[in-house]
Amino acid sequence: MIEIRELHKSFGSLEVLKGVDLTLEKGKVLVIIGPSGSGKTTLLRCLNLLEVPDKGSLRLGDNAFEFHERAKIPQKNIISLRQSTGMVFQSFNLFPHMTALGNVMEGQITVQKKSKDEARKRAEALLAKVGLADKANSYPHQLSGGQQQRVAIARAMAVDPEVLLFDEPTSALDPELVGEVLKVMKQLATEGMTMAIVTHEMKFAADVADRIILMDAGRIIEQGPPREVLNNPRTERAIQFFNHLN
Ligand code: ADP
Repeated sequence: MIEIRELHKSFGSLEVLKGVDLTLEKGKVLVIIGPSGSGKTTLLRCLNLLEVPDKGSLRLGDNAFEFHERAKIPQKNIISLRQSTGMVFQSFNLFPHMTALGNVMEGQITVQKKSKDEARKRAEALLAKVGLADKANSYPHQLSGGQQQRVAIARAMAVDPEVLLFDEPTSALDPELVGEVLKVMKQLATEGMTMAIVTHEMKFAADVADRIILMDAGRIIEQGPPREVLNNPRTERAIQFFNHLN
């Protein structure tokens, strides 16, 4: 589903991704962990071209890109890629002037050109799926952080993406609200949704990930199934990282 090769990204003179290779098969869950500033978010944002890499290649479903220093990526190719992905942000990013239902309908109407009735039906079903059928008419400010994030997940699902991308989806939540969001994500994983998730939730990673990658200073330093990466890290840097967490 996703294949990236030799991906590089700099911000000015700061090289944030220093040649990243990665594949993710359909229906699998990839969890990206690592210390702050190691490039996790940048890598995730490169997957839907919220950040455009400087070098390397990316394939996501039928969308294929080669990046060169000065090559301009056609806007229509970027739009096509974005339609194949759904993104869930740390800070929810719901439209504040729309209800939960409106938020989940919006992309279906503007991007997928569905009728209002059709979009409403799908939105209601998705809100029910994330446990918020009774909050359809609430505005974001009337919802808890955990509820807002569940609306954001329903919204990301609504346009039928091939891959869901999560950027620290529980980092902004009060601890007692983290579980309800992880539960929804776990359910999606069980149903075979392809997902790439940046998170600090190690227990969740151990439970749900098919593959974990550990990043450090712009490179992947460990990758494999959770029990390998979490229980038997091979590099000194990884051991240090895990010791620091405990
Ligand atoms: P992580 O998600 O692992 O914490 P990030 O990918 O957010 O790491 O950031 C990696 C590095 O890139 C950090 O030093 C950060 O300050 C820098 N960075 C990220 N985005 C930008 C940007 N838009 N402009 C300049 N520097 C950035």
